[in-house]
Amino acid sequence: MELFSRYRAIVDDWDAFLEHLFKPQPKVLRVNRLKTWPEDVRRRLEGQGFRLEPYPFDPHIFRVVEEPFSPGLTLEHWLGFFYIQEAAAAIPVLALEPERGQHLLDLAAAPGGKTTQMAEILGDDGWVVANEPDGQRLQALRENLGRLGIARVAVVKGDGRRFPFGLPFDGVLVDVPCSAEGNIRKDPSVKEGPSPKGRRRLATLQRELLKKGLSLVKEGGRVVYATCTFAPEENEGVVDQVVREARGAVAIEEWPEHLPGMPGITSWQGEDFLPELQHTRRIYPHHLDSGGMYVARLQRLGPLPWHEPKQDLPLLEGDIQLAKEVAAEWARAFGIDPSLLEGYVAYPLGKEVGLSPLEAVPRFPGLISVGLPAFKRGEKGLRLLPQGAVHFLQGASTRVFHLELSDFLSLFEGRDLPLELPEEGDVLLRYRGFVVAVGRVQRGRLHLLWEGKRTRDLLALFEKEKGTA
Ligand code: SAM
Repeated sequence: MELFSRYRAIVDDWDAFLEHLFKPQPKVLRVNRLKTWPEDVRRRLEGQGFRLEPYPFDPHIFRVVEEPFSPGLTLEHWLGFFYIQEAAAAIPVLALEPERGQHLLDLAAAPGGKTTQMAEILGDDGWVVANEPDGQRLQALRENLGRLGIARVAVVKGDGRRFPFGLPFDGVLVDVPCSAEGNIRKDPSVKEGPSPKGRRRLATLQRELLKKGLSLVKEGGRVVYATCTFAPEENEGVVDQVVREARGAVAIEEWPEHLPGMPGITSWQGEDFLPELQHTRRIYPHHLDSGGMYVARLQRLGPLPWHEPKQDLPLLEGDIQLAKEVAAEWARAFGIDPSLLEGYVAYPLGKEVGLSPLEAVPRFPGLISVGLPAFKRGEKGLRLLPQGAVHFLQGASTRVFHLELSDFLSLFEGRDLPLELPEEGDVLLRYRGFVVAVGRVQRGRLHLLWEGKRTRDLLALFEKEKGTA
């Protein structure tokens, strides 16, 4: 409480703010338009006892009004039909207003709520570079990208402050690490708050990341700066200082009328900020019955006073031949239309092979994957990953078998099932009409191919189904 009392003078409705700060937060989900459409998700989930209500600012975002169990434990979630993202966290990408065909950067991307949202809006034209330095969080980012079926993406591991300047981006999202006060409804440990020194250190990192984002966007392009804290030192204070340092090369843009939030403040503890900071937005928990967020829209107008040396980044071209071989093999083994992968190329990077419609990408230092990871590379050649099967092989007509819940549970327990096939090898396994797993048939027995978290999450889903069956 002490942490928040300093905001009393700047919050629009103090009683509502306090009331919402400590009450549980309703779940919110964002429909993945790359895989389905809002009414489909609503119908499917309401058929299972959920009740959803759309938010007025985006028909893809629903508040979960009734949940018989966690929406994260539905088949639809596992299939990537939606992403659980709080309402306030959806605002920064809506403020960025991605347009089809654009080349966007998410400078601090994990776990990927906003990268996936950008890629969904871009649809089948444009692409996103997702950068993240933290190895564990990067793993979560990659899992989310795979689950949602994002193929127009390149993932880079690195410190955003050192992201290389190659070709300018059309838009950049700078969703910085912060004191996360706006997350208190989900994470009570936030109550402590950072020390004054900790806050100063955060603000320095935030300014450096914002300046970098501005260096990386083209002239006329947009940078959105976002935090999930109420602290002016990390919000208006950071934007104010960076815009002043830019000496006319950066403007604070007006806020789109249809998006929620209240104006940013123009003074704090005796310090005056630029008057245009009123165009930035503070989103308090009571505004959307959600977490807190701060969002600023900036436009780069011209050359910046801080120097950004241009680096030559050679292009990494995708492997067209490998993609053709994969398509031919899938047509032979699973009866899919061989033109399914037309326009796709393969990116063998590290242990995985991604499939993507992006013909080539700059070789960013720290580039770890491009496209949707469809295979793992091993001693025995390529092994099909479940996310590859889920995304590309729903239309399979041969070597695809429907299994009941009890069959899956047997396979998960390591018990194989009898299955005679003229040709042994990989098969696809369907549950409730969807390909969800890859199995292997050897000597007349079928067993399941495990694939880390993706398979563990499927098992959790089946165990829940068993419990409610
Ligand atoms: N955009 C993400 C989303 O919507 O899912 C949330 C990003 S979170 C607020 C901030 C991220 O910044 C964290 O994942 C953190 O690991 C990362 N980070 C920390 N230091 C960084 C740095 N120097 N450069 C880039 N990212 C950094």
